[in-house]
Amino acid sequence: MRSRAGLPRGVAIANVALMIIALFVFQRVTGHDDRTEVRPGHAPQKTVQGPRGQQPRGNGAEDPAVAPAGHVTATKESARAAKANELGLVPVLMYHRITAKRWSSLDRTPGQLRKELERLAREGYVPITAAEYVTGRIDIPAGAHPVVLTFDDGSPGHFAFDAAGRPAGRTAAGVLLDVARRHPGFRPVATFWINREPFGLKDPIAQEHAVTWLVRNGFEVANHTYRHPDLRRLSRKRIGEEIARQERLLTRRGAPPSVTLALPYGSLPKRKNQRVAHRGSWKGTRYDFSGVFLAGAEPAASPYSTDFAPYRIPRIQSNGKGGECRRWCSTYWLGWLSAHPSRRYTSDGDPDHISIPKKLQGNIREKLAKRVVAY
Ligand SMILES: [Zn+2]
Repeated sequence: MRSRAGLPRGVAIANVALMIIALFVFQRVTGHDDRTEVRPGHAPQKTVQGPRGQQPRGNGAEDPAVAPAGHVTATKESARAAKANELGLVPVLMYHRITAKRWSSLDRTPGQLRKELERLAREGYVPITAAEYVTGRIDIPAGAHPVVLTFDDGSPGHFAFDAAGRPAGRTAAGVLLDVARRHPGFRPVATFWINREPFGLKDPIAQEHAVTWLVRNGFEVANHTYRHPDLRRLSRKRIGEEIARQERLLTRRGAPPSVTLALPYGSLPKRKNQRVAHRGSWKGTRYDFSGVFLAGAEPAASPYSTDFAPYRIPRIQSNGKGGECRRWCSTYWLGWLSAHPSRRYTSDGDPDHISIPKKLQGNIREKLAKRVVAY
């Protein structure tokens, strides 16, 4: 993959390397393949699920503290004052398991997640979902930077209810909600890409409670295929089946039709089958995604940019700077973005206009030209 944003080389290699590592680790750690449903070898975190047959509580205090961006209308003056650049780069952070004991380099502990979210809040980032990003609905205050938080594979450490029916404190959702309470304006939203056993729950009713709680509270719960196969190895028909089966499961559990898909292992289907990764049908179930996400390894283009490739959107693995992560995980890239503020997406606070420095005018997608405020 060409590095579209003129970012450091090695990123394409990193993407492939990461995919291979992820493939290995995923199968080894979760036993997640087509032959077995066993999830083995590790105890789920101690959390109590919401009572069966009852809607979970917790919609009160946990409602997303969305600080409305206000109905400002961007002008050249306001855009300049905010240093707005809505053609800048957006980090899409990729998390796998959130667990107290790390089994692989892809795992993060609740403490590591908290630390990263606090850094994002301090540095002026505001979370948006992957669906909001790909459809260009970026409604955050002037001067803020969007970040997309994505969690793959629906593991028990991503979401569970505590005894009171609220998201458990040491799950991804619990940590995010707590950080948002401490940092007003940091929207507690994220995208969970799940497979056939959402959050490790076997009971369909428990699955439905989890999915509906997330959706009602502004989170995105979307398609990561049913059995998590490497789509490169499947026929067009099997790809359609994997995606459509998961679409059925998601809608039965209370999620809306998926707007986005994360490719298992970040692996694109063979070229002749690639269209089926975003649009297709199987036995009467249709799907049509606005965005498809890879597994590595650089910041993503603005959805308004001519560089935006909606069906191969890069993500950044959350991790430190050691070993293989020296150049392409989150600690490196968040540092790079803060050292290159003119390359980063900065909002004008007005979701209806696209504010950019004049010199970037040639980089906007043609059909959006009418919405531009250039300064
Ligand atoms: Zn996955």
